[in-house]
Amino acid sequence: MPSNVVKDIVIPKCSGKTMKVEKGQVFRVIAHEGKQVADLTFLNAHNFKEHFAAEHSAVLNSMQGTGGYYRITKLYSKPPYENVMATVISDSVGNGARGGERAGHFMMCHCSNRLLNHLGMPGTRTCSDNFADAFKEIGLNQEDTYDETIFNVWMQSWIGEDGGMCSAQPLAEIGDTIDFLAEMDIIAVISVCPDETSPCNDFKAKSLRFQVLEGEE
Ligand SMILES: [Zn+2]
Repeated sequence: MPSNVVKDIVIPKCSGKTMKVEKGQVFRVIAHEGKQVADLTFLNAHNFKEHFAAEHSAVLNSMQGTGGYYRITKLYSKPPYENVMATVISDSVGNGARGGERAGHFMMCHCSNRLLNHLGMPGTRTCSDNFADAFKEIGLNQEDTYDETIFNVWMQSWIGEDGGMCSAQPLAEIGDTIDFLAEMDIIAVISVCPDETSPCNDFKAKSLRFQVLEGEE
């Protein structure tokens, strides 16, 4: 398990950022202030067309018995690439020990301007705004990517019996972590979700801490 911290940053609440993670390094998300979700996508650092596919990864992990929509082990890129971009090697909440399988994460979309309009909060900052800022750091416009396929870290959401989406507050507590081993050079694109209208962040946006670790053996 890599233990040398080579990058350690706190990303302020309601903001977006990118972090480069080299093959063999570990990308760690830390619930720095408690119940706060991280919306993540990943790009191949050498080919920005190759990006993480959340729902596709949920299905592929289901077939291998390594997860599903609430937890995955292998993060695949979209077709035609379908490479393993990263592997979850440690997950203190999504391992099923706390609240069962559904208590970990959610492979779905992020909050957007239209979503907040429907919630009666037009003009509120959203993950969509955070992602637009983050993509600018690497010279991409949001319209040139497909960021609505994300690993919703600590998002406790599920599909209800009527087919609608349900949410509850995250089960993550201060100090909980999830570790992703980079299987290629990747860019982690991060949104620290600004939502304060729902239980997703326990009605209060917070910061999150991120680290890159290395030093196996
Ligand atoms: Zn959000």
